[in-house]
Amino acid sequence: MPFPTTTDRPAYSESLNIAASFHFLSQKNDRFVPNILVVDDNPEIAYFLVKKLLPSFGCKTLHAQTGMEGLEMIRKTQPDIVLLDLQLPDMDGLDVLRRLATESRTVPSLLMTAHGSEQVAVDAFRLGVQDYLSKPVDHELLRQAITRILSQRNLQHEKAKLTSQLEEQVAWLTTLARVGQSLTSTLDLDEVLRRIVEAGVYLTKANEGFLALIDEASGQLYMRSSKNIEEYRSRTMQLLVTDTTIGQVVKTGKPLRLSAREDNTPLKVSTGFLVASLLHVPILSRGKTLGVLSVNHRQNPNHFVAKDEAMMISLADFAAIAIENANLYEQSRREVAERIKAEAALRESDERYSLAVKGTNDGIWDWNLTTQEVYYSPRWKAILGYADEELGNSPKEWLGRVHPEDRKYLETAISTYIQSNEPHFEHEHRILHKNGTYCWVLTQGFAVRDADGKRIRMAGSQSDITDRKLAEGRLIHNAFHDTLTSLPNRALLLDRLNRAILRRKRSDTKTFSILYLDLDHFKNINDSLGHATGDRLLVIVADILKASVRAMDTVARFGGDEFILLLEESGMEDAYDIAQRILKSLSTPKVIDGHEIYLTASIGIISSDMEYNDPEQLLRDADIAMYSAKSRGRARYELFHLEMRNSFLEQLSLEYDLRHAIRNNELCLLYQPIISLENNTLFGFEALVRWKHPINGFLSPKDFLSMAENTGLVLTIDHWALQTAASQFSEWLKMFPVNPQLSINVNLSAKYLRHRNLVEEVNQILKQTGLIGGRLKLEVTESAIMENNKHIMSTLESLHAMGVDIHIDDFGTGYSSLAYLHQFQVQALKIDRSFISNSQEGDHKPELIRTMLHLASDLGLKAIAEGIENKEQLQQLKKAGCKFGQGFLFSKPLDTRAVSSLFSRIMAGENPFAALEEVA
Ligand code: C2E
Ligand code: CA
Ligand code: CA
Repeated sequence: MPFPTTTDRPAYSESLNIAASFHFLSQKNDRFVPNILVVDDNPEIAYFLVKKLLPSFGCKTLHAQTGMEGLEMIRKTQPDIVLLDLQLPDMDGLDVLRRLATESRTVPSLLMTAHGSEQVAVDAFRLGVQDYLSKPVDHELLRQAITRILSQRNLQHEKAKLTSQLEEQVAWLTTLARVGQSLTSTLDLDEVLRRIVEAGVYLTKANEGFLALIDEASGQLYMRSSKNIEEYRSRTMQLLVTDTTIGQVVKTGKPLRLSAREDNTPLKVSTGFLVASLLHVPILSRGKTLGVLSVNHRQNPNHFVAKDEAMMISLADFAAIAIENANLYEQSRREVAERIKAEAALRESDERYSLAVKGTNDGIWDWNLTTQEVYYSPRWKAILGYADEELGNSPKEWLGRVHPEDRKYLETAISTYIQSNEPHFEHEHRILHKNGTYCWVLTQGFAVRDADGKRIRMAGSQSDITDRKLAEGRLIHNAFHDTLTSLPNRALLLDRLNRAILRRKRSDTKTFSILYLDLDHFKNINDSLGHATGDRLLVIVADILKASVRAMDTVARFGGDEFILLLEESGMEDAYDIAQRILKSLSTPKVIDGHEIYLTASIGIISSDMEYNDPEQLLRDADIAMYSAKSRGRARYELFHLEMRNSFLEQLSLEYDLRHAIRNNELCLLYQPIISLENNTLFGFEALVRWKHPINGFLSPKDFLSMAENTGLVLTIDHWALQTAASQFSEWLKMFPVNPQLSINVNLSAKYLRHRNLVEEVNQILKQTGLIGGRLKLEVTESAIMENNKHIMSTLESLHAMGVDIHIDDFGTGYSSLAYLHQFQVQALKIDRSFISNSQEGDHKPELIRTMLHLASDLGLKAIAEGIENKEQLQQLKKAGCKFGQGFLFSKPLDTRAVSSLFSRIMAGENPFAALEEVA
């Protein structure tokens, strides 16, 4: 059967143009021509379909005669529809479909059969055949079947295309959203631009991209961000971008899409690469081109399409927004900075104003650390004695006038403050006044910082604190000086001693010596003449001491009547000289309120050769030396040596022992008879204390009394002696009633004489012992009496009223003025042993004795000579008219047993002293 000719059915071609009917499904101008493969071994049918009928539908046709041939063509050409005959020479149509199914190929197919069956039709549809046509093929049914298949296929195409477009759109919206988000989430323009370039490359599937911005100042385009462009280029962000294509975009403000020309000559772009295609879009803001966003393909034959351009334009808009935002931010930052500056200036003037208000007395300064100009207020200058126009505005006007000793400290303080975070600056220093003196100022201030926190300015006030400093100076002076004498006090002395010790350690030539001076009996003066007089005397002493030393030396008052002299760079000879000079100056009588006062002092000297580390140790040894001078009789100086320390320690332990001695009954009294020289009879006894020391044996008063006096123990001793003597004597008088006129003399220390309770205690003792007051006589030294103290006067009066006589002991050795003697209630003088003993022909002693005896008789006083050791002495005294005496010639001090036996002898009618009658 031959192919029917087109002319047979000419009407088909016009009305049934399939391609035309699918026009709406195709891209504009993209005319779709279906390709149909006819697999049929019948040449007539094949001819008719391939050459006539199907072309009349507007389709292209292919022809295969066998199944194998058909499969081959399907694999190669991908026909849109296969028109398949069921009976083929090598296989049937179903086999072809099965083979295609095993190859996972789905080709729309139509099965044609001459004698089909229901079973074949079911198999065919199962294998995915679109339609089943009986032969001879009805033209209209075939046309409908083809149209249906094509329309289905086209719908699937369209759906896939729309899906991919949708996916693309989602990706692009997501990317844009991300870019947009970065606009608000980061203020870093570079970061935003980097994301925009990345998005552009990603969305257009480009190889690389970049963003370039026009520099406003130069009008030049500079690379600002890039993606996938060689690292060395992307790092060079300020790369100048100049090429004609970019230039064109900038100039026109329109996007530009270009591909390699037909001859495959690549495009050269600004990045230096040859590219296959490019897409530049302008970054526009308010009609102005800010820059260009660009992507390109290097080798890929793909061209950029309108869709890419649309996306790039969106990204360029984002870039424009980001750039605008950044500019706005920068502008507002500038505005804020401007405002802060204005506020700072306002605050600055406020501060300056408040400083000015703070005190009209304060000067104001304002130091620009950048220009090194200082504003000094008129008051600032006035504090220094200058008129406003007299000083300039350089820091030198200030710093140059600061006291040389203070300047370094001030400069350090300022620079330390500027580098620190301290809010407030404060410093005190001296500054030169116009009149040449230095005044003290307090400088207070604060620093002003710039936006970076750098201190650019310092301002503050200056107050005149000279008065306060003087007051402080006085306080400091008071802290280190004695208020009475203005001499350095203990604290200052210790400091100077420390320095002297250190100097001595560094240099052998820096020797020094210390004089530890203690006034003798100063307490007596204080007590008798009053504290005011005592104070005036101390001031006089201070003046004497200061006059005795050089300016470099230190005279310090160490306590009541103790003074320390630090003699710098001095040897022992110098120390002795000065000590002698001081003793001499002190010895000249001082007249205060009509009182003639004689001063002596005991001085301990110590030399730096002793190598001390500790000033306290040094002073302790000097004290020991002074103590030694005291115990050696006062009014003298002693150089410290190491044995002194030992003997001092002995003294200490002795003191300790003495305190226990009284409790342990180690003290005892000896009684030395006092003789009535007229008839060599017993007149009375003098009680003399002894200490039976458990280790050192019998100690006489010289071994422990001065220590007892210094420590106050003497009061206990005296009280004990008084009580013991009174009680013993009262007993003896009862036991041995030889002479009711016998009396007992008890020695009293000056301390006890001054003691408030003396009278009361004497009274008690008399009552306790039953001794009559007239039988008790108290011996006190003339210096103790001469204190001319009202209390002592009244004590003497009271004792006298009790019948107790007062004998002046050691008479003639003190400084007392004999003229005052009559004022005191005293009844006898005991002429000191020194006038009696070793008295030789030719010396003045006998005359002195005679004078004293006359004085005594003139005043109605008894006179008792002490220490009569030989008959010559006794002879002389008798000749001179002395009526009473005591001494070894008559008897040594006797213990109680000896006294008892003496009494017994007298009771027996014997006169133990009769042997001396011959002498008389
Ligand atoms: P004093 O009051 O001048 O006592 C007389 C001292 O001369 C006694 O020394 C006595 O032993 C000593 N003496 C007496 N006749 C002679 C003599 O012919 N030749 C020499 N060389 N010495 C003679 P004593 O007992 O050592 O006492 C010394 C001083 O101790 C006393 O001097 C007296 O001031 C004081 N004293 C003694 N006992 C006491 C006391 O109980 N209380 C107080 N406060 N002082 C006392
Ligand atoms: Ca005596
Ligand atoms: Ca005496």
